Amino acid sequence: PDTVRLLSSSQVITSVVNVVKELIENSLDAGASSIDVKLENFGLDRVEVRDNGQGIKAVDTPVMAVRHFTSKICRHEDLEHLETYGFRGEALGSICAVAEVAVTTKTEEDEISTQYTLDLTGKIVSQKPSHLGQGTTVSVMKLFKNLPVRRQCFSSTKKCKEELKKVQDLLMAYAIIKPELRLMLVHNKVVLWQKAKVADNRSALLATLGPSAIANLIPCHHHQEQPEILLEGFFPKPGADYSSTSTSNPDKTFIFVNNRPVQHKEIMKLLRQNRYPTLMLKISVPPSSVDVNLTPDKTQVLLHNKVTTKLNLNQIELQFICLAVE
Ligand code: ADP
Ligand code: MG
Repeated sequence: PDTVRLLSSSQVITSVVNVVKELIENSLDAGASSIDVKLENFGLDRVEVRDNGQGIKAVDTPVMAVRHFTSKICRHEDLEHLETYGFRGEALGSICAVAEVAVTTKTEEDEISTQYTLDLTGKIVSQKPSHLGQGTTVSVMKLFKNLPVRRQCFSSTKKCKEELKKVQDLLMAYAIIKPELRLMLVHNKVVLWQKAKVADNRSALLATLGPSAIANLIPCHHHQEQPEILLEGFFPKPGADYSSTSTSNPDKTFIFVNNRPVQHKEIMKLLRQNRYPTLMLKISVPPSSVDVNLTPDKTQVLLHNKVTTKLNLNQIELQFICLAVE
């Protein structure tokens, strides 16, 4: 059973950025307004994510890292109205199988926080009182310690730098989609990047990418019914010369489906047909018309046919909006 656990976990938890993503999403699901991500040795020695969310109830702690335990959905039907990032109860347990994990948590009702040390199977092996405030801190140490090939693969200087860049890009995506969230990335005790709480997506773009990247942006907003789709996007103003300004990010496109940062080939293709690059596109559809369970990391989504067709039409409308401003 240990081998089976290790094998399936190693497919869910594939990289440092993957660990960071799962932990951040848990923090967001817990209603956190502040998240600190701290890495040591590019995350290989330690990934620590601290939030100020609702914490884990004492009754849930013994099962929190048990495979398929989730406090987020109860019934199959809940999947149709999914509003949380997590729903499979797989991340924490899988991380335990490939690293050393400690969880410190405190709910509003708890007087003090408790630190739990978990074993490979996700069971609590020890617990002690701790001094942290409300919220949860998950520490993941010695990632892939029992998967030597993978650990070694992630240890090369090139790979380390790539992963760190990916972590930063991922945090930027959440920073943009969650304006009200305070975020910080620390590597080997050095603050690499941080973002304060801001009011809206535009301010979040400013805080994340800097003034030059958003100087010429125009917002597009489009809502239609049957099937219901809300498109919110930011496009550079027509005529803005992006080729010569190295500080702006014309090559970056942040796509979100129901607040999830996603990679979507078809949508990217649609956007590339557009005359202007897209910096951010936020697509909101009823949860029942999207399947986020395509890959373990949920970065790829499947949209209902009707939605995809509408998006094709919408693409044309978005072009109109851009052209009208020209
Ligand atoms: P899922 O997110 O799919 O529910 P996880 O394995 O990621 O599964 O987490 C298991 C459970 O542990 C969650 O359902 C939640 O109850 C609890 N949990 C994990 N991280 C946090 C956190 N940062 N804050 C509050 N609860 C958490
Ligand atoms: Mg989760």
